Amino acid sequence: GRSNGTDGVTVYDAQIFSNALKLISMELDLHNALINQEFFLVYQPVVDTITRAVTGFEALIRWKNSQGKIISPTKFIPLAEETGLILQLGEWVLLEACSTLAEWRRTNPLFKNLKVNVNLSARQLSDLELTDIVSRILTKTNLPPECLRLEVTETMLMENPDYADITLRRLRALGVGLCIDDFGTGYSSLMYLQQFPISNLKIDRSFVNDMEKNPANYEIVKAVVALAHALGLTVVAEGVEEEEQRIMLLEAGCDFSQGYLFSRPIPPQEIPNIVSIMQAP
Ligand code: C2E
Ligand code: CA
Ligand code: CA
Ligand code: CA
Repeated sequence: GRSNGTDGVTVYDAQIFSNALKLISMELDLHNALINQEFFLVYQPVVDTITRAVTGFEALIRWKNSQGKIISPTKFIPLAEETGLILQLGEWVLLEACSTLAEWRRTNPLFKNLKVNVNLSARQLSDLELTDIVSRILTKTNLPPECLRLEVTETMLMENPDYADITLRRLRALGVGLCIDDFGTGYSSLMYLQQFPISNLKIDRSFVNDMEKNPANYEIVKAVVALAHALGLTVVAEGVEEEEQRIMLLEAGCDFSQGYLFSRPIPPQEIPNIVSIMQAP
């Protein structure tokens, strides 16, 4: 607190105290939410930029709290990460996403070649047991490993590149795909990029956003696509909201697209319908 003026001290400390209480209470809520099964996944289609056919989905977590309010992952993932709860939560996400795709594959031939992308957090990537967890879940759900893609950010990779490299190699050896998320926003080195056993780059939506108005961003998008292809990687653009953007991405040679133009993240029950509507011609 401030040393001059008693009122200042009181107000300042009360503010800190109240914020801390909010965090602690949310931490408790998060823990209970896991027990009470208040988390659920929504799925956003990833489509072929040219044909708009669905090629897979990204699983995105949501929390419906005890008051019925839906809370964004941007609010609670950082807290779950901080408290370590993310390990349990992340395992739940993996199991839920894999069993959902496995179930679709059993009941619907249109899902034969579709993939599910799951976001990993930094703690999960540095968990020594990650590969065993993923392997166990694939066996349990009977999902072919190539149907699962794990998304990691550049920042997560660069925090401890040697360690990340070992973990990614183990995951790759299982047969799962690896994708660098939010590409372009972090600091990454080309040397590592070609060294990591990744299969896919996802261009951050901040570049896609204003590509039409900002020629520099379109140049970046084109350069990322060229770079990815030169390294033998496929590219997904995220945050595609306008048809004009899809055309620009198509011209840039971007393989896959994801965004509100095609579909918002939707509950699993709505996915089979979207897949059948958006098929390869
Ligand atoms: P992300 O991995 O970059 O996910 C993409 C975010 O962009 C999602 O937000 C998605 O709803 C949103 N989005 C998709 N298309 C568009 C579009 O056309 N325009 C705009 N403006 N936004 C679009 P969401 O679902 O709120 O997730 C936010 C972040 O939370 C994710 O960013 C990811 O970092 C994290 N997250 C979500 N689910 C999980 C999870 O299961 N585990 C972990 N570790 N993190 C997760
Ligand atoms: Ca992602
Ligand atoms: Ca992203
Ligand atoms: Ca992000």
